[in-house]
Amino acid sequence: MMRKMIQDFIKHDIIDYMDAWEQKGMVPRDLWKRAGALGLLCMDMPVIYGGSALDFSFNALFIEELAKEGISGPGFSLHSDIVAPYLLKYGSEAQKQQYLPLMAAGELITAICMTEPDCGSDLRAIKTTAVDKGDHYLVNGQKTFITNGHLCDLCVVAVKTHPGTEREGVSLLLINSDSEGFEKGPLLNKIGLKAQDTCELFFDHVKVPKDNLLGEEGSGFKIMMRELARERLTVALNAVGGAEGAIEKTLAYTSTRTAFKQPIAGFQNTQFKLAECAAQLQVHQTFIDRCTRLLSDNKLSAESASMAKYSATEMHSKVVDECLQLFGGYGYIWDYPIARMYANNRVARIYAGTNEIMKLLIARGLFKDLFLHMKTSKN
Ligand SMILES: Cc1cc2nc3c(=O)[nH]c(=O)nc-3n(C[C@H](O)[C@H](O)[C@H](O)COP(=O)(O)OP(=O)(O)OC[C@H]3O[C@@H](n4cnc5c(N)ncnc54)[C@H](O)[C@@H]3O)c2cc1C
Repeated sequence: MMRKMIQDFIKHDIIDYMDAWEQKGMVPRDLWKRAGALGLLCMDMPVIYGGSALDFSFNALFIEELAKEGISGPGFSLHSDIVAPYLLKYGSEAQKQQYLPLMAAGELITAICMTEPDCGSDLRAIKTTAVDKGDHYLVNGQKTFITNGHLCDLCVVAVKTHPGTEREGVSLLLINSDSEGFEKGPLLNKIGLKAQDTCELFFDHVKVPKDNLLGEEGSGFKIMMRELARERLTVALNAVGGAEGAIEKTLAYTSTRTAFKQPIAGFQNTQFKLAECAAQLQVHQTFIDRCTRLLSDNKLSAESASMAKYSATEMHSKVVDECLQLFGGYGYIWDYPIARMYANNRVARIYAGTNEIMKLLIARGLFKDLFLHMKTSKN
């Protein structure tokens, strides 16, 4: 029932508007409210905070169904699957009550701001500062590549609360976008995800009340590292959904398009390519389903999440590339969903931690005894 409801939502509220939203560079706020009214946002949040207390597998279903149709505009997953859990796990009771119900209703749109112009992979190097001024922090700095950046009403922002000291202390602050000194930059001109309002954010002497600290001061880095496993799984889910959609669309296209008096699907090359894609998809789907169960049980390790993100996004890229080839020239034309899928999927190997960083994390697990030995012998 949920799958059908999501498919109807995509059919009636999204598909026909994609072109216009891509031209505009963003989706309308009403789409967020519609998703909220249908109960599709923050589904796994407790009922008292506006959610439906569902299992994470329902969030996973939503991600996969959107990906199957190549829907890229609204950053629903970042809002529901990343920001909401930050608030639920580390927020004060007042913060949860103030923000989560509005988030679930789609009336408050959120973003998470870690990356800066000079650092993305190396998050310890962030330069945005929050200086303690008694009852508030004074925030100065800049963030970039922020998903939902233009529409956001509330951001989780990584800052340094003790800049210049040995400890430095990465902390997380909840910053309202209507705060004085908070500015949104123009939309970034991306090669894909054209309806996604990705932009830079600027903080110029922004006063942030101490009550807006998320978790303890100095705990930001630990929180981000812990929560990145979930973020990486959402990217992997998007990859398997996207691969499934690409294969479905290619099966349909190659069954009707003809060359040399036969359907393209009649050539053994077409059959073999799609057989390879389907096999890769199945193998990944099984592993990602297992990771989804592990996440629901709070047992998903950083290594497994990194493997899922790395491997599923590489698979997705290969599948979409092979599928596009089978569309011939039409595969290169934006009106065909496979072209959008090709452009949209590329970033998945970059964001939520690049695939090189995923390999570092996996290797760190594999070589942990050796690394420990090297560290102790150095000391
Ligand atoms: C469309 C889009 C949306 C995004 N949304 C958000 C968002 O909502 N919030 C947010 O905070 N960020 C967001 N990001 C930022 C994204 O997470 C970063 O781009 C990503 O983490 C990489 O950081 P970087 O761009 O600074 O690359 P860099 O860190 O400069 O890396 C450049 C290259 O060097 C490689 N590299 C770096 N370190 C190592 C190493 N130790 N070993 C081997 N290779 C290495 C990288 O793998 C990469 O290939 C988004 C990015 C995009 C493009």
